[in-house]
Formats: sequence, C-alpha cells, structure tokens
Amino acid sequence: MDRHLTADFAEACFLVDLSPVVRRRDIGEPGLRSLRRLALVVDAAVELARDPDAKLFLVADRSLRAGAREEFNDPADVRVLRDWVRRGLVEELEDADGRVLELCEMTGIPVITYDYYRDARVEFPFLQGNTDDFLQPTPGPDGTVRLMPLDMGVASDAQISRKSEETVLKKQGLLGPQRKPRSEVVRRNWRCPDARCTLYDTRKGSSVMLPRMRGGVPTCDLHSLELVDDGPRTATAQVKLMLDGACVARFTLEDGSTVRIGRRPGPNGIALHGLVPAERAARISRVHVELRVTGGVVRVEDVSSYGTRWRPTAGKTGPGPWRDLGTGARREFRGGDELELTEGVVLARSGRRFPTELAQEWQRRTPPSGGGSGAVTRMY
Ligand SMILES: [Zn+2]
Repeated sequence: MDRHLTADFAEACFLVDLSPVVRRRDIGEPGLRSLRRLALVVDAAVELARDPDAKLFLVADRSLRAGAREEFNDPADVRVLRDWVRRGLVEELEDADGRVLELCEMTGIPVITYDYYRDARVEFPFLQGNTDDFLQPTPGPDGTVRLMPLDMGVASDAQISRKSEETVLKKQGLLGPQRKPRSEVVRRNWRCPDARCTLYDTRKGSSVMLPRMRGGVPTCDLHSLELVDDGPRTATAQVKLMLDGACVARFTLEDGSTVRIGRRPGPNGIALHGLVPAERAARISRVHVELRVTGGVVRVEDVSSYGTRWRPTAGKTGPGPWRDLGTGARREFRGGDELELTEGVVLARSGRRFPTELAQEWQRRTPPSGGGSGAVTRMY
C-alpha cells in the first residue's frame, strides 16, 4: 500500500481524511479501527482515477494514534501508522479537518471523507453546495469499496450566522485555538534560507510547495527554518485537456500570456497532436484557439477552420447546451466552462486556484511519443 501514499500533495490524486476512514464500520472488517479499510479505499481510488500508480495524501488527527490503541483490530496497524507519520506519508495534526479543507481549497484535489464539515462553512465557503470535491467510500459488491460523490448541501442561514458570530469571536482571540487566514501566505513566493532547498523556490524546481505554518510563521517543512518572502506570486490560470471525459493533461498559464492551442500551433503553443488520438487530432486546426490571460481572466478566441463549441457546466442545473463559439469571436473562459475542439476533445478551466505546477512549465516538458491512444489517466 505504501507505494500509493505520498508525502507531497503536489503528486496526489486524492486527499484522505484518514481518521473517519479507519473508523468507518460499514467497510472492510468489523471492529472499531482498521487500516484494512484504507487499503480498500486505495483500491477504489486507483479504480476511479484509472491510474495504477494513483497516489493519496493522508491527513489524520493526532487522536487516531494517541490513546485507545486497543481499538485497532490489529496491533501492527499502530506501528504501521507510526512509521508512515515518521516518513511523512501521514500528516498528523491536532485539527485534520482544517488542513484537509485548506489543501482542497488551495489545490482543488478531491477529498475522500465522511464529513460534511458543517462547522467550517464560513471559513470555507466553497463547501456550500459543493458536489465536486468530496468523495465518500461506500460498500461495493464482494467486499469492495466505491467512491461516491458527496453532496455537501447548503447550510441554512441560521446555521451560518451562528457560525459567523463564532468566527468573529475567534478572530478576536475569544474562541479556542485560532486558525489564521492564510491567503496572504499563498499569494506570495517563499524561499528557504538553506541554499540547497528546492521545496519553495520558483527558480529551482518545476513545482513549488505551499508553506507550512508553524506558530503563525511560514516554515520550511524540511529544514524547519522560517521562510523568506520572495515577492508576490504571479497569478496563474490552469487549463485541463479532457479526452472523452478524462483529464489527460494540465497546463498552467501565466498572467499576461497569450497561448495558442491546436494540432501543431508552433513554438510556445500547446500542441495536441501527441495527446489525442490521431484521427481526432486531424479534425483539430493547426492553431485552433488562442487563450489570453489578463489579471486572472482568461479570454478565448476561435481561430480554427473547423469551429469550436462552448458550454458552461457550473450552473445549478448541470452543463448547459453546447453553442458555437463563432470564428473570430472572443469570450471569457471561466471556471466550469468547456471548449470542445472536436468530438470528445475538450479544454476545461481547472478549479485549482494555486496550482503547484509553475506557470508555463509545460513548455519544458517533453512531448509524449505515440498517438496518444495509450493509457489515459484521470487527473482530478
Ligand atoms: Zn528548506
């Protein structure tokens, strides 16, 4: 199972709220706590992601290991957990919920959980009415587990106003341990004072980690040193390439950039010829659409000979009807919008607000060989 766990959420397909999974008694074996349940969830995640190497990032409350150890069916589970925590494969915190929601909000990586987080609706408004970001393990046939989308529902005004009041009290330090707002942290670049460190530095790696807050200070996870502010983080927008509903690639676009996407759009463009099957690539223009990113807003222009269709999907009633974009027309390409270049080949705006991949990193990637008809990985 270890090979499906990761200490780096940048490579994770799913976040796991571990404590409720280990304690959930309708999956796996009977008993109060069992890691066998996690194994079933890993199988389900691999299946859903259609990726035999899918990785999960686990977050757990300290209380999972501390105390009540006799509740584990297998005493060896406690040792396995201790080993995972030591190796960073389980992030162990006082408050796992806050960390899970923070990571989900910042990265858009879906969460495997049983919790509706009703007490966190004010701090994390994206929970309200959310049907995309949360998955619940449910019993499947023959002792297997399936991951079903969890409808988070909308908490009532009364519930929210009560929570708002608590939040105000909390901000004034009148309520329990304070969780500081962190947007001022994630909108900056950070650098570790250790010159060899590549975790956060935008000039050294192909992706950057979000800083860990320790005692209210952004701190290097590896060196435990206070990070140095390295200026504002460039705004980015992320576009996903979907093939028959599965995401085959993500492209992080830098603010101020103009990017041409098509079969073979030339230097600095996003070439689809190796990414989609040849017979469909043939129906995509050499330069099909042009995306322009300004101040976080993405505009799309159809420059194709074959035409492009557009639809919104974020509405309350599900995806809207496909409409022709119109050659030469330019329109805003918002979160939830989809552009269909040819049948089953769709560009979608990613929900990730702070992608870990650096802007324009795809320009440095080696294009895949072959016709793109091989294994398709769903990337959430
Ligand atoms: Zn460091």
